[in-house]
Amino acid sequence: MEYINSRKFAVDCDRNDPLKEFRDYFYFPKKDDKPVIYFCGNSLGLQPKKVRDFFTEEMDNWAEHGVEGHFKGKRPWVDYHKHFRESLGRLVGAKETEVVAMNSLTVNLHLLMVSFYRPTPSRFKIICEAGAFPSDRYAIESQIRFHGFDPEQALVAIEPLGGECVIKTDQILSEIKQAGDELALVLFSGVQYYSGQYFDINKIAETAHHVGAFAGFDLAHAIGNVPLSLHNWNVDFAVWCSYKYLNSGPGGVGGAFVHQKHHDQNLPQFAGWWGTNESERFEMKKEFNPMVSADRWQLSNAPVFNMAAHLASLEIFEQAGINALREKSLQLTGFLEFLLSDLHELIHIITPKSPDERGCQLSLLIDANGREIFDQLHEQNVIVDWREPNVVRAAPVPLYNTFCEVYDFVQILKSAIEK
Ligand SMILES: *Cc1c(COP(=O)(O)O)cnc(C)c1O
Repeated sequence: MEYINSRKFAVDCDRNDPLKEFRDYFYFPKKDDKPVIYFCGNSLGLQPKKVRDFFTEEMDNWAEHGVEGHFKGKRPWVDYHKHFRESLGRLVGAKETEVVAMNSLTVNLHLLMVSFYRPTPSRFKIICEAGAFPSDRYAIESQIRFHGFDPEQALVAIEPLGGECVIKTDQILSEIKQAGDELALVLFSGVQYYSGQYFDINKIAETAHHVGAFAGFDLAHAIGNVPLSLHNWNVDFAVWCSYKYLNSGPGGVGGAFVHQKHHDQNLPQFAGWWGTNESERFEMKKEFNPMVSADRWQLSNAPVFNMAAHLASLEIFEQAGINALREKSLQLTGFLEFLLSDLHELIHIITPKSPDERGCQLSLLIDANGREIFDQLHEQNVIVDWREPNVVRAAPVPLYNTFCEVYDFVQILKSAIEK
């Protein structure tokens, strides 16, 4: 796409946007009665208007049927977790049996590390990125200690080279090869929350397997942002949350993927009654007889209200389609990058230049007066976020953001810098 630095160009892009109607599906926060420019869908996605109807349905089901709501109403609660299989499968590129909506991200990470991090005295290392999200780091280190190992020896955290923020794929692959048969697990993010780098999941998984390790991914910033093919990439497991790009509300239900090749294996796991074979779940047997699917890792019955918001939101993704969203996303973020090139002396974009190596987010490193500029933006009704020590993350989301918002954002940013 050839970009032009003018508002008219942005207006034309919005007019021709095949996904433009989706903006109306969402509520936009207001400040001083004026709508904000909301570029924070990477942190908390906006509320789909129809969430309220989905809640009301379950409130009514509960009011009318009490306990019998488990088996009555439009969507009986006993099967509620099953409504996510198709849509989540499409979002992460998996079979319906490989995905499950459950718990929250960090809980799922722990549950799957129980199955996929089984260190031995000779194979005990985990590789992650040095700038991993703190919760992931805490989970990893606590698992290492839980097994009686020392993170100092067992954790290989990859630092980008030469003061960069981006980690080169070759570096990741060579660290994996170097750890070799001491490596038990590679645990990387799909899209890095700070830099916005989209890692080469396929190659990382392939190289991990080559040295005999498992490969797991945290897709918090990848799901709903970039198309994924977890099954074909042969990923062992993945986890995600639903409140970022998936717009399913604060603390919304998380999800997990486990490749089907592991479903019938005798893996250690933490078990609960929702993981036992559903045909005999209510026979209340003593023995745990696991489901042969990702459902096997479920612990509890479905948190229906959390899931109702998730379902409302995933219906929108089903309608829009992740490939169409990605196509618009590439243009929207490309436009932002193009407009920011005027400011290259003051603002350094730390997100990779290649569209194949990023999602919708651009992370802007602002050395001088970064915090003042961020405060100015906020004053001018722009919602982006600030990450210490000097990075503004801006995520134009293809479902509900516009080219005009990108244009206006950059004008406001320029005026903030001039002040
Ligand atoms: C947002 C995010 C989390 C949050 O974890 P919760 O368990 O949902 O609180 C974890 N990891 C990454 C990489 C994230 O971006």
